[in-house]
Amino acid sequence: MDMPTKPIDLAALRVNGPRLWASLMELAQIGATDKGGVCRLTLTDLDKQGRDLVTRWAREAGMTVTIDQIGNGFMRRPGRNNSLPPIMTGSHIDTQPTGGKFDGNYGVLAGIEVVRTLNDHGIETEAPIEVAFWTNEEGSRFVPVMMGSGVFAKAFTLEHAYAATDTEGKTVKGELERIGYIGEQEPGDHPIGAYFETHIEQGPVLEDHDKTIGVVTGVLGIRWYDCVVTGMEAHAGPTPMALRRDALQVATKLMQEVVACAHRHPPHGRGTVGMVQVHPNSRNVIPGRVKFSIDLRNATDALCDAMDADIRAVAAKLAAESGLSIEITPVSHYPAQPFHPDCIAAVQQAADALGYSNMPAVSGAGHDAVYMARLAPAGMIFIPCKDGISHNEIEDAKPEHIEAGCNVLLQAMLSSARRNS
Ligand SMILES: [Zn+2]
Repeated sequence: MDMPTKPIDLAALRVNGPRLWASLMELAQIGATDKGGVCRLTLTDLDKQGRDLVTRWAREAGMTVTIDQIGNGFMRRPGRNNSLPPIMTGSHIDTQPTGGKFDGNYGVLAGIEVVRTLNDHGIETEAPIEVAFWTNEEGSRFVPVMMGSGVFAKAFTLEHAYAATDTEGKTVKGELERIGYIGEQEPGDHPIGAYFETHIEQGPVLEDHDKTIGVVTGVLGIRWYDCVVTGMEAHAGPTPMALRRDALQVATKLMQEVVACAHRHPPHGRGTVGMVQVHPNSRNVIPGRVKFSIDLRNATDALCDAMDADIRAVAAKLAAESGLSIEITPVSHYPAQPFHPDCIAAVQQAADALGYSNMPAVSGAGHDAVYMARLAPAGMIFIPCKDGISHNEIEDAKPEHIEAGCNVLLQAMLSSARRNS
């Protein structure tokens, strides 16, 4: 690796792992559940308490705090040249109703730990450092998911986000006002030099390969469809096998093909049928109509297109063979988001220099970094989580992995701050 030319050996700099862990555990007490998880839904009183604590820590670390109109928080440590766009990190502190301590929270507190470490050693960066917490990443209380970063990246409008309602009819705008986190700053008003996000993997791959760091190369594209197979209901007894128009038998063949299609597009192809409705759903009636969901994912839009064509061709063949109608309707579509080569390289080089075992990884879940990647060079750092489980109160991560991911973040941000200076 190249040696820094500055008097302080930046390459030797390490974060304070126990301090980061202690902050994670303290934040996890706000909304703590009996089973060891966290329930801190976005824009609730508990979310306000979490925001208050995080912004207090930021101010104690000498950062300025600004809030934008969708309630995103920007905690800024000035650099030598404050006309440069900041090197940004961040994530979210809202959780699922049965969420864990680490999802999102880790990414925000890792950013604060980076700043605390720079303070400890009196290090001034060329560009400012900014740590963001994005409103309503989880999408559990209000849809859409990744709301704050989506508004910031102009994926949808502020008005659209404001109008979203929860099950009680409360709006995002009303709840932002109520908890005092509706700011003046216009979302997306400031440019970003580069964006990094640390996150637990939320999947089993790193643990399976016994690696400490996942160098995330991108986020999978997603295609959602509804599929309806239509046959004819008839009595299960009097109707001989040859004269049936059994929608479920054809539907299950196509469901198998959804999974087979993913296997035909390796290594990142994913195919899932998660929801099935059988009509009339009666023990002694041949099913006349089956509706089911299809979720296809892959690393590039071209591969998603190929999976789309594949499953449609299979469906056409099954329809022709069976004489039943098969309708596939697109429901929603998220493009694949590759991360920036410079950011991928910065993460990779930091992990190598720190001596952490690492491997390339893709994210099968959405993250705020997806929207930031539309605005600036972006990258992500994954660490393993126990059994790959997340969005669950038993979500767990090892202190040494928490520390390692934060060290990679520190070094990747420092190298970007140098490159952008
Ligand atoms: Zn998350």
